[in-house]
Amino acid sequence: MTNSPLLSTSADAWDPRLPRSCVNPISQLTRLYHTALHLGAADPHMMAKVVLPKDLEKCWEWSGAFFSNGYARYTRGRHHVGTQRVHIMLYEQLIGPVPPGMTLDHFRCNRKCCVNPYHLEVVTNLENIQRYYATITHCPAGHEYNKENTRYFVDGRGYNVRTCRICSRRHTQRHRIKKMVGLV
Ligand SMILES: [Zn+2]
Ligand SMILES: [Zn+2]
Repeated sequence: MTNSPLLSTSADAWDPRLPRSCVNPISQLTRLYHTALHLGAADPHMMAKVVLPKDLEKCWEWSGAFFSNGYARYTRGRHHVGTQRVHIMLYEQLIGPVPPGMTLDHFRCNRKCCVNPYHLEVVTNLENIQRYYATITHCPAGHEYNKENTRYFVDGRGYNVRTCRICSRRHTQRHRIKKMVGLV
């Protein structure tokens, strides 16, 4: 059969690259999912641990193990050889490869544990961290992350991070005092 719905070019075919406002009616999602399974695009061993909701547009729960950072973990075979992040694998199997240097963001549900690939969007690392930061408005000591009090920089590992200026100033002062009295 050459007329695979996955490869369909008809006007109603859902393209994940379309803007969110154009994103799919459920019938297309259902069709896409079943088609993917029939084509063997999704790993059946992994799919066996996915708890699919009746409405496939809702979050897909994972009945297997999780990484300590909250993402679903899948291990095939013993000794943790081939341990994978499920959300990335499912995205790549059902939608397409994640381009190098890009990352996946749970833009629909903001739940790390969800493995519905249609809840994910490819973003740059910087975009992802900025979205995360947007949800945290104050530093652990309670100072607001406003324009004056926030410093953005790239740390030693190449990650984009931010700090609270008040806290880092206090940290420096404490360090200076400790140095003066010979504690460091
Ligand atoms: Zn979700
Ligand atoms: Zn602070």
